[in-house]
Amino acid sequence: MDQRSIKTVEFDKPVMPGGACSVGQAWARVPQSPSTAERAELRACIREWLIRQQAVLVAHYYVDPELQSLAEETGGCVADSLEMARFGRDHDARTLVVAGVRFMGETAKILSPEKRVLMPDLDATCSLDLGCPADQFAAFCDAHPDRTVVVYANTSAAVKARAHWMVTSSIGLDIVAALHARGEKILWAPDRHLGGYIQRKTGADMLMWQGSCLVHDEFKGVELDLLRAEHPDAKVLVHPESPESVVAQADVVGSTTQLIDAAKALDATRFIVATDLGILYKMQAAAPGKTFIAAPTAGNSATCKSCAHCPWMAMNGLANLAAVLQSGANEIFVDPAIAERARMPIDRMLDFAAQKKRNVRASGDLARDDALFRHMGAA
Ligand code: SF4
Repeated sequence: MDQRSIKTVEFDKPVMPGGACSVGQAWARVPQSPSTAERAELRACIREWLIRQQAVLVAHYYVDPELQSLAEETGGCVADSLEMARFGRDHDARTLVVAGVRFMGETAKILSPEKRVLMPDLDATCSLDLGCPADQFAAFCDAHPDRTVVVYANTSAAVKARAHWMVTSSIGLDIVAALHARGEKILWAPDRHLGGYIQRKTGADMLMWQGSCLVHDEFKGVELDLLRAEHPDAKVLVHPESPESVVAQADVVGSTTQLIDAAKALDATRFIVATDLGILYKMQAAAPGKTFIAAPTAGNSATCKSCAHCPWMAMNGLANLAAVLQSGANEIFVDPAIAERARMPIDRMLDFAAQKKRNVRASGDLARDDALFRHMGAA
């Protein structure tokens, strides 16, 4: 069963230095929806093979709700990329099956080199990753050796290997604020909207790569304003990968987990949500009885390209998940030398997050680690 269609996808392809964007072309494969009978069969098969393979399913909030529910029911996790990384590292399964996009599988492998990491589709990528090639990024870093390099999780292992810190959207603001307080200047990549949001909040000196997420980049400030006028009682929840005109209208700006928490905690009954629609499965479960309206991605004669759903997250389906569990295909491998270098910025973030939880100042010794980076050369 492999009747899948191919969707052409356009994304921002920054031309650095200078920061102008050209348009890159990529593609995504869309799994065919199984029938009700096939779904039941596939779900049973996945449950059985997770046990047989001593595997655990680690799913992102943006993938098919069927996969999210399976992860929950089988002892896996549904989470943002920070929690996915932590969960995979700490779980004692021999195999991690990552339902998400490629950089998530790579991060899992870097943190758990002794485990087998499988993905339903290895071609599930991300416009931020595609728009930040490692060789060009290395040249950008080389041109600015005085800056602390902070990269978003949505990058290849080779780009992470060139960074001092990796961050996710749930912890990026705190980490940049801490670096700024130490007087450090930042080189940020790849998402210009998230970087701009963090810069506005912290006042940090940030030199930006100019990538974008093709889903969040499409939310429209003017149309959101009109939608808010139609629903004056609604609270607006916005992921910071969205443009500034959208973020400016938010009641809450945050990572996927933070937005789900806000939907639960706020006493409003209606929300306008500017992030991937895959999140609605968890939001509705966390806040039953509340109404969620998708923020607009089209208008003013523009048509949506992603329509608020990531074409690469959509490549994860029941059929290809069942197939990789049975065959062991689609294993993630990361060059061990790159993995070793890439682990440092990821560990720094996880240590920072753990210490933040304990309300203790981060202990990362950047000066000590910089000595290591000096011997690394280009990623
Ligand atoms: S939703 Fe955006 S940031 Fe997330 S994987 Fe898709 S393209 Fe990348």
